[in-house]
Amino acid sequence: QLTLDEVTKTFQDDDGEIIAVDEVSVDIEDGEFLCVVGPSGCGKSTTLRMIAGLEDITRGEIRLDGQIINDQPPARRNVAMVFQSYALYPHMTVRENMAFGLEESTDMPDDEINERVEQACKDMGIFELIDRKPGELSGGQQQRVALGRAIVRDPEVFLMDEPLANLDAKLKAEMRTELQELQHDLDVTTVYVTHDQTEAMTMSDRIAILNDGVLQQCATPLECYHEPNNLFVAGFIGEPS
Ligand code: ATP
Ligand code: MG
Repeated sequence: QLTLDEVTKTFQDDDGEIIAVDEVSVDIEDGEFLCVVGPSGCGKSTTLRMIAGLEDITRGEIRLDGQIINDQPPARRNVAMVFQSYALYPHMTVRENMAFGLEESTDMPDDEINERVEQACKDMGIFELIDRKPGELSGGQQQRVALGRAIVRDPEVFLMDEPLANLDAKLKAEMRTELQELQHDLDVTTVYVTHDQTEAMTMSDRIAILNDGVLQQCATPLECYHEPNNLFVAGFIGEPS
Protein backbone atom coordinates (compact mmCIF):
# COMPACT_ATOMS: atom_id res chain seq x y z
CA GLN A 1 0.00 0.00 0.00
CA LEU A 2 1.22 3.44 -0.98
CA THR A 3 0.00 6.15 1.35
CA LEU A 4 0.08 9.90 0.93
CA ASP A 5 -0.66 11.50 4.28
CA GLU A 6 -1.42 15.23 4.12
CA VAL A 7 1.34 15.67 1.58
CA THR A 8 2.06 19.32 0.91
CA LYS A 9 4.46 21.09 -1.42
CA THR A 10 5.09 24.81 -1.45
CA PHE A 11 7.39 26.77 -3.73
CA GLN A 12 8.75 30.24 -3.13
CA ASP A 13 8.60 32.71 -5.97
CA ASP A 14 8.91 36.52 -6.21
CA ASP A 15 5.30 37.07 -5.14
CA GLY A 16 5.55 34.75 -2.16
CA GLU A 17 4.47 31.18 -1.56
CA ILE A 18 2.83 28.90 -4.12
CA ILE A 19 1.01 25.92 -2.66
CA ALA A 20 1.44 23.39 -5.46
CA VAL A 21 0.06 20.43 -3.51
CA ASP A 22 -2.17 21.04 -0.52
CA GLU A 23 -2.53 18.32 2.15
CA VAL A 24 -3.27 15.50 -0.25
CA SER A 25 -4.15 12.24 1.50
CA VAL A 26 -4.85 9.00 -0.35
CA ASP A 27 -4.27 5.26 0.15
CA ILE A 28 -3.37 3.40 -3.02
CA GLU A 29 -3.86 -0.35 -2.76
CA ASP A 30 -1.39 -2.94 -4.02
CA GLY A 31 -1.89 -3.53 -7.72
CA GLU A 32 -4.27 -0.61 -8.05
CA PHE A 33 -4.27 1.60 -11.16
CA LEU A 34 -4.87 5.17 -10.00
CA CYS A 35 -5.24 7.96 -12.54
CA VAL A 36 -4.48 11.51 -11.46
CA VAL A 37 -6.31 14.20 -13.43
CA GLY A 38 -6.95 17.92 -13.19
CA PRO A 39 -6.29 21.20 -15.01
CA SER A 40 -2.83 22.36 -15.99
CA GLY A 41 -0.87 23.52 -12.95
CA CYS A 42 -3.05 21.68 -10.41
CA GLY A 43 -0.10 19.75 -8.97
CA LYS A 44 -0.18 16.38 -10.78
CA SER A 45 3.48 16.24 -11.77
CA THR A 46 4.63 17.67 -8.46
CA THR A 47 2.73 14.91 -6.65
CA LEU A 48 4.40 12.20 -8.74
CA ARG A 49 7.79 13.80 -8.36
CA MET A 50 7.42 13.80 -4.58
CA ILE A 51 6.54 10.10 -4.59
CA ALA A 52 9.53 9.41 -6.84
CA GLY A 53 11.82 11.52 -4.63
CA LEU A 54 12.68 13.98 -7.39
CA GLU A 55 11.16 16.72 -5.25
CA ASP A 56 11.29 17.08 -1.45
CA ILE A 57 7.99 17.30 0.37
CA THR A 58 7.27 20.38 2.45
CA ARG A 59 4.95 18.69 4.95
CA GLY A 60 3.21 15.38 5.46
CA GLU A 61 4.36 11.83 4.94
CA ILE A 62 4.66 9.30 2.13
CA ARG A 63 4.65 5.63 3.15
CA LEU A 64 5.10 2.42 1.21
CA ASP A 65 3.86 -0.64 3.10
CA GLY A 66 3.92 1.37 6.29
CA GLN A 67 7.53 2.52 5.89
CA ILE A 68 8.19 6.23 5.54
CA ILE A 69 9.90 6.75 2.18
CA ASN A 70 9.85 10.53 1.80
CA ASP A 71 13.26 10.82 3.48
CA GLN A 72 14.87 8.18 1.23
CA PRO A 73 16.83 8.87 -1.96
CA PRO A 74 14.95 8.06 -5.21
CA ALA A 75 16.95 4.90 -5.97
CA ARG A 76 16.03 3.36 -2.60
CA ARG A 77 12.28 3.87 -2.90
CA ASN A 78 11.31 0.86 -5.00
CA VAL A 79 9.37 3.10 -7.38
CA ALA A 80 10.03 3.71 -11.07
CA MET A 81 8.98 6.75 -13.06
CA VAL A 82 8.14 7.00 -16.76
CA PHE A 83 8.12 10.47 -18.30
CA GLN A 84 6.18 11.97 -21.18
CA SER A 85 9.41 12.90 -22.92
CA TYR A 86 10.85 9.36 -22.45
CA ALA A 87 14.11 10.89 -21.15
CA LEU A 88 16.30 8.32 -22.90
CA TYR A 89 20.03 8.90 -23.30
CA PRO A 90 20.59 9.57 -27.02
CA HIS A 91 24.16 8.28 -27.10
CA MET A 92 23.31 4.93 -25.51
CA THR A 93 21.73 1.87 -27.11
CA VAL A 94 18.42 0.46 -25.90
CA ARG A 95 20.31 -2.13 -23.91
CA GLU A 96 22.54 0.50 -22.30
CA ASN A 97 19.64 2.81 -21.58
CA MET A 98 17.80 0.06 -19.79
CA ALA A 99 20.82 -1.24 -17.89
CA PHE A 100 22.13 2.14 -16.80
CA GLY A 101 19.84 2.77 -13.82
CA LEU A 102 20.47 -0.68 -12.38
CA GLU A 103 24.23 -0.35 -12.81
CA GLU A 104 24.18 3.03 -11.09
CA SER A 105 21.85 2.37 -8.20
CA THR A 106 22.26 -1.32 -7.34
CA ASP A 107 25.09 -3.78 -6.97
CA MET A 108 23.31 -6.31 -9.15
CA PRO A 109 25.79 -8.52 -11.08
CA ASP A 110 26.15 -7.78 -14.79
CA ASP A 111 24.69 -11.06 -15.98
CA GLU A 112 21.53 -10.57 -13.95
CA ILE A 113 21.17 -7.02 -15.29
CA ASN A 114 21.62 -8.39 -18.78
CA GLU A 115 19.02 -11.07 -18.24
CA ARG A 116 16.51 -8.58 -16.88
CA VAL A 117 17.11 -6.14 -19.71
CA GLU A 118 16.64 -8.84 -22.34
CA GLN A 119 13.49 -10.13 -20.66
CA ALA A 120 12.02 -6.62 -20.43
CA CYS A 121 12.80 -6.08 -24.12
CA LYS A 122 10.97 -9.31 -24.95
CA ASP A 123 8.03 -8.26 -22.75
CA MET A 124 7.83 -4.94 -24.56
CA GLY A 125 8.29 -6.47 -28.03
CA ILE A 126 11.50 -4.56 -28.78
CA PHE A 127 14.08 -7.31 -28.47
CA GLU A 128 15.17 -6.94 -32.09
CA LEU A 129 15.88 -3.25 -31.45
CA ILE A 130 18.11 -3.81 -28.45
CA ASP A 131 21.32 -2.52 -30.06
CA ARG A 132 19.79 0.59 -31.64
CA LYS A 133 19.97 4.10 -30.28
CA PRO A 134 16.85 6.14 -29.44
CA GLY A 135 17.30 8.32 -32.54
CA GLU A 136 16.80 5.22 -34.69
CA LEU A 137 13.44 4.37 -33.11
CA SER A 138 9.86 5.55 -33.64
CA GLY A 139 8.00 7.40 -30.88
CA GLY A 140 6.09 4.28 -29.89
CA GLN A 141 9.28 2.23 -29.78
CA GLN A 142 10.99 4.86 -27.63
CA GLN A 143 8.04 4.76 -25.28
CA ARG A 144 8.41 0.99 -25.02
CA VAL A 145 12.06 1.44 -24.12
CA ALA A 146 11.09 3.97 -21.44
CA LEU A 147 8.57 1.49 -20.03
CA GLY A 148 11.11 -1.32 -20.26
CA ARG A 149 13.53 0.76 -18.29
CA ALA A 150 10.97 1.03 -15.51
CA ILE A 151 10.16 -2.70 -15.63
CA VAL A 152 13.76 -3.88 -15.23
CA ARG A 153 13.83 -2.31 -11.80
CA ASP A 154 10.97 -4.61 -10.79
CA PRO A 155 9.48 -1.76 -8.76
CA GLU A 156 6.60 -1.95 -6.35
CA VAL A 157 5.15 1.24 -7.82
CA PHE A 158 5.01 2.63 -11.36
CA LEU A 159 4.72 6.39 -11.66
CA MET A 160 3.77 7.65 -15.10
CA ASP A 161 3.46 11.27 -16.13
CA GLU A 162 1.41 11.44 -19.33
CA PRO A 163 3.42 8.63 -20.91
CA LEU A 164 1.32 8.53 -24.08
CA ALA A 165 0.86 12.26 -24.63
CA ASN A 166 3.36 12.47 -27.50
CA LEU A 167 1.88 9.64 -29.53
CA ASP A 168 -0.68 9.87 -32.33
CA ALA A 169 -4.24 8.67 -31.73
CA LYS A 170 -3.84 5.20 -33.22
CA LEU A 171 -0.60 4.42 -31.42
CA LYS A 172 -2.03 5.89 -28.24
CA ALA A 173 -4.96 3.48 -28.31
CA GLU A 174 -2.61 0.58 -28.99
CA MET A 175 -0.21 1.51 -26.20
CA ARG A 176 -3.08 2.10 -23.82
CA THR A 177 -4.17 -1.53 -24.19
CA GLU A 178 -0.60 -2.72 -23.97
CA LEU A 179 0.02 -0.71 -20.82
CA GLN A 180 -3.10 -2.05 -19.18
CA GLU A 181 -2.13 -5.64 -19.96
CA LEU A 182 1.37 -5.03 -18.70
CA GLN A 183 0.15 -3.42 -15.50
CA HIS A 184 -2.24 -6.31 -14.98
CA ASP A 185 0.41 -8.98 -15.68
CA LEU A 186 2.99 -7.37 -13.42
CA ASP A 187 0.32 -6.53 -10.86
CA VAL A 188 2.25 -3.38 -10.04
CA THR A 189 0.69 -0.44 -8.22
CA THR A 190 0.43 2.39 -10.74
CA VAL A 191 -0.08 6.13 -10.40
CA TYR A 192 -0.80 7.54 -13.82
CA VAL A 193 -1.10 11.22 -14.65
CA THR A 194 -3.12 12.03 -17.75
CA HIS A 195 -4.91 14.88 -19.49
CA ASP A 196 -6.96 12.39 -21.39
CA GLN A 197 -10.43 11.77 -19.95
CA THR A 198 -10.88 8.58 -21.98
CA GLU A 199 -7.68 7.19 -20.54
CA ALA A 200 -8.73 8.02 -17.01
CA MET A 201 -12.22 6.60 -17.43
CA THR A 202 -11.17 3.37 -19.14
CA MET A 203 -7.82 2.48 -17.58
CA SER A 204 -8.16 3.29 -13.92
CA ASP A 205 -9.49 1.50 -10.88
CA ARG A 206 -9.91 4.92 -9.28
CA ILE A 207 -9.46 8.51 -10.40
CA ALA A 208 -7.95 11.21 -8.20
CA ILE A 209 -9.10 14.67 -9.25
CA LEU A 210 -6.95 17.64 -8.24
CA ASN A 211 -7.76 21.31 -8.48
CA ASP A 212 -5.35 23.97 -7.33
CA GLY A 213 -3.34 21.42 -5.36
CA VAL A 214 -6.39 20.16 -3.47
CA LEU A 215 -7.75 16.63 -3.88
CA GLN A 216 -11.41 16.98 -4.88
CA GLN A 217 -12.36 13.33 -5.06
CA CYS A 218 -10.76 9.93 -5.26
CA ALA A 219 -13.20 7.28 -6.42
CA THR A 220 -14.00 4.85 -9.22
CA PRO A 221 -14.66 6.38 -12.64
CA LEU A 222 -18.36 5.57 -12.35
CA GLU A 223 -18.63 7.12 -8.90
CA CYS A 224 -16.90 10.29 -10.07
CA TYR A 225 -19.23 10.41 -13.04
CA HIS A 226 -22.50 9.63 -11.27
CA GLU A 227 -21.78 10.87 -7.75
CA PRO A 228 -19.37 13.79 -8.08
CA ASN A 229 -18.34 15.37 -4.77
CA ASN A 230 -18.78 18.87 -6.10
CA LEU A 231 -19.41 20.98 -9.18
CA PHE A 232 -15.76 21.00 -10.10
CA VAL A 233 -15.66 17.21 -10.36
CA ALA A 234 -18.97 17.14 -12.20
CA GLY A 235 -17.70 19.68 -14.72
CA PHE A 236 -14.31 18.12 -15.10
CA ILE A 237 -15.29 14.49 -15.50
CA GLY A 238 -18.39 15.33 -17.53
CA GLU A 239 -16.40 17.37 -20.00
CA PRO A 240 -15.65 15.76 -23.35
CA SER A 241 -11.87 15.51 -23.79
P1 ATP B 1 0.40 20.17 -16.26
O1 ATP B 1 -0.90 19.49 -16.48
O2 ATP B 1 0.49 21.45 -17.02
O3 ATP B 1 1.58 19.28 -16.44
P2 ATP B 1 0.62 19.83 -13.38
O4 ATP B 1 -0.69 19.50 -12.77
O5 ATP B 1 1.57 18.73 -13.62
O6 ATP B 1 0.37 20.66 -14.73
P3 ATP B 1 2.69 20.91 -11.65
O7 ATP B 1 3.80 20.83 -12.62
O8 ATP B 1 2.64 19.90 -10.59
O9 ATP B 1 1.28 20.94 -12.43
O10 ATP B 1 2.73 22.35 -10.99
C1 ATP B 1 1.88 22.72 -9.91
C2 ATP B 1 2.13 24.17 -9.54
O11 ATP B 1 3.42 24.30 -8.97
C3 ATP B 1 2.09 25.14 -10.70
O12 ATP B 1 1.49 26.33 -10.26
C4 ATP B 1 3.54 25.35 -11.04
O13 ATP B 1 3.75 26.62 -11.61
C5 ATP B 1 4.19 25.24 -9.68
N1 ATP B 1 5.56 24.74 -9.76
C6 ATP B 1 5.95 23.53 -10.19
N2 ATP B 1 7.30 23.39 -10.10
C7 ATP B 1 7.76 24.56 -9.60
C8 ATP B 1 9.06 25.05 -9.26
N3 ATP B 1 10.15 24.28 -9.40
N4 ATP B 1 9.15 26.32 -8.76
C9 ATP B 1 8.05 27.08 -8.58
N5 ATP B 1 6.81 26.68 -8.89
C10 ATP B 1 6.64 25.43 -9.37
MG1 MG C 1 2.53 18.00 -15.32
